[in-house]
Amino acid sequence: MSTAGFNSQNGTGTGQTYTNGPSQNPVALQQPSGVGYSVNHQPAYNQMQAKVLAPPGPALYPSGPYQPVPPGPQVGSYPPAPAQPLLPRPQIGVLPSHTPPQSASPGPGPWPAQATPPAQATPPPPAVTSTGYYTGPPAWQYAAPRGPAPNHVNPAAAAPPLMSHSSTQPPGPGAPPTSIHGYTQLGSAPPPMNPLPPHTYQPNRPAYGPPPTMKPTAPPAGPPGTTGTPPPPKADGDVAGNGPQAPNSYNHVDNRMAGAAPPGPPGRHLGHYPSLPPGYQNTSAPPPSSLHPALQAATQPYTQGPLPYQQQPGGPGPSPGPAPAQLSPSMAAMSLQSSTPEALRVVNLLQERNLLPPAPVPAPTPCLTQDLQKLNCSPEVFRCTLTSIPQTQSVLNKAKLPLGLLLHPFKDLSQLPVVTSSTIVRCRSCRTYINPFVSFLDQRRWKCNLCYRVNDVPEEFMYNPVSRSYGEPHKRPEVQNATIEFIAPSEYMLRPPQPAVYLFVLDVSHNAVETGYLSVFCQSLLDNINALPGDSRTKVGFITFDSTIHFYNLQEGLSQPQMLIVSDIEDIFLPTPDSLLVNLNECKELVQDLLKSLPNLFEKTMETQSALGSALQAAFKLLSPTGGRMSVFQTQLPNLGVGALQSREDPNQRASAKDVQHLSPATDFYKKLALDCSGQQVAVDLFLLSAQYCDLATLGCISRYSAGSVYYYPSYHHQHNPAQVERFQRDLKRYLTRKIGFEAVMRIRCTKGLSIHTFHGNFFVRSTDLLSLPNVNPDAGFAVQMSIEENLDDMQVVSFQAALLYTSSKGERRIRVHTMCLPVVSSLSDVFAGADVQAITGLLACMAVDRSVTSSLSDARDAMTNAAIDSLSSYRQSALTIQQPGLLAPACLRLFPLYILALLKQKAFRTGTSTRLDERVFAMYQLKYQPLAFAMLMIHPALYRLDDLSDEGALNIGEQTIPQPRVLQLSVEKLSREGAFLLDAGLVMYLWIGRNCHQNFLSQVLGVSSYAAVPEKLYLLPELDTAESQRTRAFVSWLRDQRPFFPSLHIIRDESQLKPHFLQNMIEDRTESALSYYEFLLHLQQQISK
Ligand SMILES: [Zn+2]
Repeated sequence: MSTAGFNSQNGTGTGQTYTNGPSQNPVALQQPSGVGYSVNHQPAYNQMQAKVLAPPGPALYPSGPYQPVPPGPQVGSYPPAPAQPLLPRPQIGVLPSHTPPQSASPGPGPWPAQATPPAQATPPPPAVTSTGYYTGPPAWQYAAPRGPAPNHVNPAAAAPPLMSHSSTQPPGPGAPPTSIHGYTQLGSAPPPMNPLPPHTYQPNRPAYGPPPTMKPTAPPAGPPGTTGTPPPPKADGDVAGNGPQAPNSYNHVDNRMAGAAPPGPPGRHLGHYPSLPPGYQNTSAPPPSSLHPALQAATQPYTQGPLPYQQQPGGPGPSPGPAPAQLSPSMAAMSLQSSTPEALRVVNLLQERNLLPPAPVPAPTPCLTQDLQKLNCSPEVFRCTLTSIPQTQSVLNKAKLPLGLLLHPFKDLSQLPVVTSSTIVRCRSCRTYINPFVSFLDQRRWKCNLCYRVNDVPEEFMYNPVSRSYGEPHKRPEVQNATIEFIAPSEYMLRPPQPAVYLFVLDVSHNAVETGYLSVFCQSLLDNINALPGDSRTKVGFITFDSTIHFYNLQEGLSQPQMLIVSDIEDIFLPTPDSLLVNLNECKELVQDLLKSLPNLFEKTMETQSALGSALQAAFKLLSPTGGRMSVFQTQLPNLGVGALQSREDPNQRASAKDVQHLSPATDFYKKLALDCSGQQVAVDLFLLSAQYCDLATLGCISRYSAGSVYYYPSYHHQHNPAQVERFQRDLKRYLTRKIGFEAVMRIRCTKGLSIHTFHGNFFVRSTDLLSLPNVNPDAGFAVQMSIEENLDDMQVVSFQAALLYTSSKGERRIRVHTMCLPVVSSLSDVFAGADVQAITGLLACMAVDRSVTSSLSDARDAMTNAAIDSLSSYRQSALTIQQPGLLAPACLRLFPLYILALLKQKAFRTGTSTRLDERVFAMYQLKYQPLAFAMLMIHPALYRLDDLSDEGALNIGEQTIPQPRVLQLSVEKLSREGAFLLDAGLVMYLWIGRNCHQNFLSQVLGVSSYAAVPEKLYLLPELDTAESQRTRAFVSWLRDQRPFFPSLHIIRDESQLKPHFLQNMIEDRTESALSYYEFLLHLQQQISK
């Protein structure tokens, strides 16, 4: 028995469970009407799964008796003797010299002797401990400040230290240079009373403005290590290098700050928001542009361009009113205008066939006053499925749309205000960080926008470093920026921030060596070793494994790396535990020697077995004392010792089975180990490179629950698959050099009355709203589902706040806070008008992945189809005033059926084609883990015609001109034999060359004389000195540069073996097992009119 339809508003109430038998049809033609979203809720679909420790699947491989280690052929000249678990191998490689030990070795805890344990640094517990940042942390994890809210220190009760703290804390040897304002402050750190001289606020952000055509979201094109991972070392250094400094200094970390204009005059006013970074402010009208409005909107997330669904001026408008933070709630929100907004324009889907906008679909703009919207969080970071929040759960139930948030909290940002402050102002009651959407009752009191408690404004906060004036708390950067980062004071840590620790766990079995990945990995790490995020304390270590586990002693003083083999994999232990993780700076030469010799060391291995489980256990032991990042490279199904697996894939069943089996783990070994890792602040990233089935559904648990990432390179081979090799190389570079946060937690808060219940992404849910993230990286996305528990009757707006507390690779404790404000509406029409169809699709995809695993794939497919039926049906019945024939949708949801059909045909959920199990599972991981923009590309790829690119409407970025061809419908009808078409599906791109492709394109872009001369396997666009070649390459590079992973490009002729893969993305067309878009619409209409 299965339930069809997502219960999006689970969490309140109970009700009958609708049932819907397994459907014979891929789109559930037989289902009864009314199935799907239920007004009465059934028990929650997927409530807090991540919190459940119980294994979802049977434990096929408990840690019972293991296979004895077969006496296989020994590798090379270093045979491990069976009786001796630990065998020192002869030293490897040729080592010219080594660095002598240095006396000032930082060691793991180079903290100033004066550093006081935070427990002592904080005053006695207040009454509100349960709302503290942490609840019941393990002993050695950071705990909530137990004291009264540090930001509400009564100036009378504690004397301000003023500037004195700096003199009391000479950094110890090796102390992170950035620690001056952090943990070393003792408990008496109240704010200075008055404007103090050394306040340094640097509002000198670079002009955000021109070129208006450049996507501000695009990651910088350069190497991530140098330009793609703000804040850069220099900027961090700026924070650190200020030496003795006022307790509150404000540093805007900005990649492009160098060379920027000097700070403007203090108190320079731009409208009412002095010194706001232009990116957040944009008081002027968007610059004129020849771009299509949709593209403009898409490229300027912060601007207030003339979007269709936008509050018209005329209400309590932007003009000389009070700042938003001073607005009363009734002033802050507005109701819809009487005229029908574009979002509610009625579209008959059966008639209007070409619904795709010419450029990527922009995020809708919430219906807020311009003042509030100006300050709102970027939709790239924080997005809600409904940009107008229903007043009651019953209105939400009527809409049949899921309510939830999509987050990209650690996204690389080109501009990020960073505040160093001894006090971080938070609500005493609910611990919300002060933000642009609080209200100031007067200069001394502010009202929390989440719980409505009135709080005092701390004395320190009265000084505004932006205008350098006193008595303007509402102009502080914290109240002017919806995204801001704090450098946390000592209350936010229980132990000194951990150093950056990287452990690499490498498969060196015969299979692994065959793929050739090892030399690519070693070379890549050699190339990027100086770009690994970290500081003088950074540590690295290496473990290799086949049927045994090999450790590498890299201790200073050795002339060569020393290999140590542990063959007793059933009771793994660490030989020389102190010399396996070494300081990178001190032992860099040994590390480099090891990387140079590793590929050759196993060149002739015949060892085929893989004791991955034991290797992971060893790695966990090694990382446990510090926490850190474990990077695991695996090329086959682990078949020895703990965690050994057997193949569960039957290729014969792929195409025929109605349902897909084995989507859940075969054993809970990897999940349990991941939870152990999470508890010790260790995240595990898995790189799977294999031509064979590896049971990603099981192995992936090691990353999923430890907040790691999963990378998958099917059919990886260094000779046979150059496209994969290039992808692996590019991904590795990004992986090794991107920003990283350690020992992180994220909490999401929302206005009283709303409640968060189900989380999606890679993490462990430690308490109801606290995600444990041993590592956080800039490429990770998250989603949560919400319900409305109390009516929001008297509220005009609600707010959501995500706070990510992490340790930077430089050893700073930092808090990144994002706050989003949305209007509350009472009518169903207004709810529909604010629907964000992409966010809805992204959230439904996450829910469907869970449903596939906990129930069945067909169930998940039915539920997705029903989501479209139910919402359009509700729209027709309850929101439409004039009935008319056809399949009707509000304009803002016009793409919903198309996206649902795209999901049904996506690799994760499709049926009828021979989808490999690992590839399906990987697609499911991607849907849950990728930020929305990238997930959408995987769901609904973009198709462009490339043989007639022109400069019309092109972007100009620097010296380059980037053509902007329009996005085409995904149908073979749009293809032409005379043309060349690029399909961008996120991780992969296909450039399809038509049989009669213009000669000009063939010669000027591909450099071949005729169609027949196009090589069978072509992965690169040749660099020709022609305008056509430059245009084409510029466009493809531009697409690639905007994502953190590297999509491989396949240039295919019409008769290529890969053509079916290309055609599978033609979502609007019929396939043997799935409906065409038009047929799907007819099906929806039939169900709705029942
Ligand atoms: Zn509050």
